[in-house]
Amino acid sequence: MRSLSGSLFALVFIPTLSLSHSQPTQTPATDRWIDFPDVPGATTLVADLHTHTVFSDGHVWPRIRVEEALRDGLDALAVTEHLEYQPHRADIPHPDRNRALAETLSAAEGSNLLIVSGSEITREAPAGHMNAVFVKDSNTLLKLPPAADKITDTIEIYKAAHGWPADAAVKAATAQGAFVFWNHPYWTAQNPDGRAKLDPFHAALIRSKDLHGIEIANGEDYSEEAHQIAMGNNLVLIGVSDVHELIDWDYAPEQGGHRPVTLVFAKERSSASLREALFEGRTVVWFKNLLIGRERDLLPLLNASLTLDPKVSRYRNADVAEITLVNHSDAEFILDNTSAHTFMTESDLISVPAHGRKVLAVKLPKDGKAVDLSFIVRNTLLAPGKHATLSFSTTLPDPS
Ligand SMILES: [Zn+2]
Ligand SMILES: [Zn+2]
Repeated sequence: MRSLSGSLFALVFIPTLSLSHSQPTQTPATDRWIDFPDVPGATTLVADLHTHTVFSDGHVWPRIRVEEALRDGLDALAVTEHLEYQPHRADIPHPDRNRALAETLSAAEGSNLLIVSGSEITREAPAGHMNAVFVKDSNTLLKLPPAADKITDTIEIYKAAHGWPADAAVKAATAQGAFVFWNHPYWTAQNPDGRAKLDPFHAALIRSKDLHGIEIANGEDYSEEAHQIAMGNNLVLIGVSDVHELIDWDYAPEQGGHRPVTLVFAKERSSASLREALFEGRTVVWFKNLLIGRERDLLPLLNASLTLDPKVSRYRNADVAEITLVNHSDAEFILDNTSAHTFMTESDLISVPAHGRKVLAVKLPKDGKAVDLSFIVRNTLLAPGKHATLSFSTTLPDPS
């Protein structure tokens, strides 16, 4: 056994002293990066606009959210604390509700992550929870009665916050230019049947243009009813993690999992462009292996994500076309063949792996050379239960 010598002790002594924390580094692209191609005329920004830290009911410091976002290759992150529900307030009192943002900004310094300001406005049903992002001052979205100073119980303070109506808080946010979305409208704690319903409270906010978007995916859940409400009321489609613990615990990204995110098609990679694109509703939700979006936004992403390799050859020198589908995205594409062609190598359900290729040997009609393939893309949703379709055309080359 080696003893610790005096000289070794001198070697390990580090004479410099730093009081600041090290800054997060921009990690190089890894398998856990959420990666989708840009679309014509826009850059694809990956955003998680609903997360929590110890500044409300989360269990990590904002710096961890920033680190996770960098590891996941996010372009934009919002830390959106409950303004009214502060279970850690005895240990982390912060009458200034902008503290979580300040900590997040300082943690992201030196990286190119876009930090979006935001808060979660929290009430009992029917108002439920709503996120306001791109707020200028979160303190103005909370009004507690003066007597609340004397209350110590977290739930009693939360109840006291109900004295200020939720729609007034939402309007205070939109007056600052905030983008507001309805969180988990199917949440079983407030909807025991698990179904989102459009109630008069939210309908009025939609009419007054104070509610702009709706979460159709949050954490483990996708809601058909929320999706339908979005389609029927022209609300922007939003997908979020709403993470409270660790992304790695909830989604196992090192094993191929990912948090739900909103892909936002922005003119450029900036906060201003992100906000503009959100208000224009230019989004696709990436949830589990599903891409969910309106035709205008989903089809360009689909066309950029899955392409036909221009090189076509003859399979085994026969009158059979060998074509290759190339996947430039994180989604595994599940294609249901609806064309007249059948394949030598596959049945009618085809999978194109993420960032991979799929070779298909396409049988042709007698003396025919044209390949006209059409597919239902099963892992996409244009509306509840409605999948996108994709087609590719090419021709069999002459024998060499
Ligand atoms: Zn919530
Ligand atoms: Zn939340």
